[in-house]
Amino acid sequence: MRDRFWNEAIETLSPPDVRRLENERLAEQIAYNYESSPFYRAKLDSAGVKPDAIRDRGDLARVPFMEKTEVADSQADGTLLGVNQCAPLERIVRIQATGGTTGRPIRIGLTRRDIVDYGEVGAQALWAMGCRPGDIVFECMNYNLYSGGLSDHLTFETLGAATIPFGVGNSERLLRMMAGLKDEVGIWATPSYAIRLADVARDLSIEPRSVGLRRGYFSGEAGLQVPGYREKIEDAWGMVARDQYGTGELGLHSGECEEQNGVHFGATGIVIAELIDPDSGEVLPFDDGQQGEAVYTSIRREASPLMRMRSHDLMQVFTERCACGRTSFRFRILGRSDDMFIVKGVNVFPLSIQAVLMKLVPRVTGEFRVDIDRPPPIDYPVPLAVEVSRDLPPTRHEELAREVVERLQTELNFTAEVLLVEPGTIATEGKTRRVIRSYRGEVA
Ligand SMILES: [Zn+2]
Repeated sequence: MRDRFWNEAIETLSPPDVRRLENERLAEQIAYNYESSPFYRAKLDSAGVKPDAIRDRGDLARVPFMEKTEVADSQADGTLLGVNQCAPLERIVRIQATGGTTGRPIRIGLTRRDIVDYGEVGAQALWAMGCRPGDIVFECMNYNLYSGGLSDHLTFETLGAATIPFGVGNSERLLRMMAGLKDEVGIWATPSYAIRLADVARDLSIEPRSVGLRRGYFSGEAGLQVPGYREKIEDAWGMVARDQYGTGELGLHSGECEEQNGVHFGATGIVIAELIDPDSGEVLPFDDGQQGEAVYTSIRREASPLMRMRSHDLMQVFTERCACGRTSFRFRILGRSDDMFIVKGVNVFPLSIQAVLMKLVPRVTGEFRVDIDRPPPIDYPVPLAVEVSRDLPPTRHEELAREVVERLQTELNFTAEVLLVEPGTIATEGKTRRVIRSYRGEVA
C-alpha cells in the first residue's frame, strides 16, 4: 500500500501495539541514558527512580522534567553538545543547532542511525502531506545550521522527491527559476514566505498563478491553522497547501493528511509525547480534545536524546480515528506557552489574533506583531503592529485601526493599541515572530 502510506506497518499500528512498542523502547532508552549521561543519571537518582522502574509510558510521570536551558547552559562554556550527549563523538556524524527563536540556540548531535530515523519519520510526514517521488520541490528554508535546511532537505530525498536546495533570500531568482520550468513544482517554506513571495511576484508583474507552483509544504509557523490563511496562499498561487510540524530537537515529524483535520503525530516508536498542565506540571489524560503543553521523550535516539523535555508548546490532541487510515493521534498547536500573554487575566494567543485579522483581509495583509514593551502585569493597551494593504487609501486607515481594536475587544477580550504599518515590513523570509518582549531586550 505504498500509494497511501510511506510505512503502512507503523502508520496503522493499533493503539495497544503502539504502547507495547513504546514501552519496550522506553525501557531500553532510559537504561542507555542512565549509563551514558551523568546528567540523566543524576536526574533519575535525585527522584529516587531506578532505570528499570520505568517500564511503561505511565511511569514517566516519576521522571523529572528537563528544560532546553539546561542543555544551553551546559554548552555555554564551549562544550560541544553538553549534558544530554549520550554517544561518543566518534559516532556522531552531524551537528546542527536549534533555531533559538525563543531562547538561546542549542547544538544537537546525530549519529548515523539518528539520521536514518530522522529521514524515515520525515518521509512519513511528507507522504501524508501528499509528496511523492517524481515531485520537484524547491526547499526555501535556511540551510545554515538548522534542521529545517539540510536535514529536512534529506527527508525529501529519502522520500524520493527531486529536491532543489534553494535556501532563503533571492526571491526574484527563485520566481524566475520556477516560472522558467515546464513542470509544476512544490515549495518547502514558511507560510508567511509564500505570502511574501506572491507580493514579490506581483511587484515584478508576474502573476503568481502563472508560475506553476502547485504544492506547498509549510513549516516553522502555525499560520495554516488560522482560518483564511491557507485559502489566501492557495488562492494566490493556485496550489494545495499542507501543514507540517517539527522542532529542531526532534526534526520534521508530523504532517497533515488529505482530511486536513490536524497534523498526524509521525514519530511513533521514536518519541513519546505527553501532555502536561504548564503551570502545575501534572500529566493530563491523552483524550480526544485535550489541551496541554507537549513534553517529549526520545525512545530511539543515540546522540542527543531528550528525557521529558518541556516544549513550552501548547497543543490540542485528537484521538478519534482519522478517515485516512492512519492510527496516530492528530494535533494542532495552540501557540507557544511563552508567546501567550495574559492581559488582565485573559490568555491571548497570537493565533487568535491572526484569526481575527484574517477576517479583515484584503484591507489588511494578515501579518502582525505584538510588542510587549513593559514587564507584566499587562494592564495597558497592548502595542500591536498590523500590516495594512497597499490598496487601502490612507483616508480609511483610522477607521480600520478602530475596527481592529473593537474586534479584538469583542472577540478576544483585550484592548490593543494598533499601529498600522506598510505591507512587507513584518513578514520575513525566516520565521515570523508574532510576540516580542522588548522590555526583556528581545528584537524582531
Ligand atoms: Zn489522516
